[in-house]
Amino acid sequence: MNGQISHYVALGSTSRETGYYVAGPIRQDDQIVGVIAIKIRSSSIGDLLHQLGEDETHGVDWALSDEYGVIFAASRDEWLHRSRHPLSTATLDRLRQERRYPGTQPSVMPAPYRSRHEGADHSLIMRLSDHVGTATAPISGTDWRITFFTSTHGSAPLAMAYAAMGGITALAITLIGVVLVFREMTRAQMLRTAVRDPLTDLFTRLYMKEAIPPLVAMHDRHPDQGFTMVMLDIDHFKRVNDHHGHLAGDRVLAYVGSIIREEVRAGDIPVRYGGEEMAVFLPGEGLTEGRKCAERIRQTVENAAIRAGHSVLSVTLSAGVATHRQGESLSTLIARADRELYCAKQSGRNRVCVEGSTAPETN
Ligand code: GH3
Ligand code: MG
Ligand code: MG
Repeated sequence: MNGQISHYVALGSTSRETGYYVAGPIRQDDQIVGVIAIKIRSSSIGDLLHQLGEDETHGVDWALSDEYGVIFAASRDEWLHRSRHPLSTATLDRLRQERRYPGTQPSVMPAPYRSRHEGADHSLIMRLSDHVGTATAPISGTDWRITFFTSTHGSAPLAMAYAAMGGITALAITLIGVVLVFREMTRAQMLRTAVRDPLTDLFTRLYMKEAIPPLVAMHDRHPDQGFTMVMLDIDHFKRVNDHHGHLAGDRVLAYVGSIIREEVRAGDIPVRYGGEEMAVFLPGEGLTEGRKCAERIRQTVENAAIRAGHSVLSVTLSAGVATHRQGESLSTLIARADRELYCAKQSGRNRVCVEGSTAPETN
């Protein structure tokens, strides 16, 4: 909720498996309206590395460590959750509080595999100790470091070890690519949440604010290219929640959302306007098509038997239809569609009111 994309390593409360979490804010009109978080299990990162390095990593071990130096994925299982250098009491306390890893505290890696505290060092560090060659590199965009270990025992000259590491550095770069893909996935996921309401799968109001102004501008330039708006509101929806519970209410909303998506035509823009209010924008259409669309939705909803738990529910909805007038703002059009919706509610609900018509469309 601090408005930043953050990433952290933590232990899943149900899976008990360490994972990498990426969380980012979802904004609407400069306000943060939610947070999206995804988890990448450390085992799947390990699988990826294994696949990437099947040939190149022969005789080379690797470890991915978090910003504290604790290993959360490695080529050797016994290295998991060990730290690459001794940790301060403050860090150990923090790790316990953050519930990152199982067990009491990470034990330190054996001497040749240890590092000095690398801190915020952003360069590739190569080191040789006790016949183990080590190369550590930061992974851009994350707090992680990847470390490769090669044995320089026996006749293998030092040069060979470093040559192997050269190849491995290329792998590290590939891994950076992998991390970037993960980032893109997150971004795509965030984009989808911003565009589609997760409950009804209708477009969000945020999307509406992007998609409708071009229709307004188009109509202002071309008198014959107008559009029409249908405003829909479920009748007595509060009762559904009160009598059957919020979950059943959600189920009804999702079902009505699916009906609307099916009843509109390609090119129409169905939106969850808020709560149990939905809107459909019909580019290139006038009141006649708007009325037909609203009627189709109204009738299908009226005839639907909606399964929610052990109950089968039925609801109705009311609709108001207004068409865009040249030079008019979106909010004025919405206000006029809302007035028609109010008229439908006042005349008994489960009906469609169209601007300019005296008698509401009754069921
Ligand atoms: P009317 O026929 O006049 O529209 O009456 P209504 O009860 O439908 O209207 P009201 O505005 O009084 O109540 C709307 C209710 O919709 C109240 C609110 O809790 C509920 N609601 C809004 N969003 C959601 C949601 O996402 N899920 C559920 N279950 N309920 C929701
Ligand atoms: Mg309602
Ligand atoms: Mg309402």
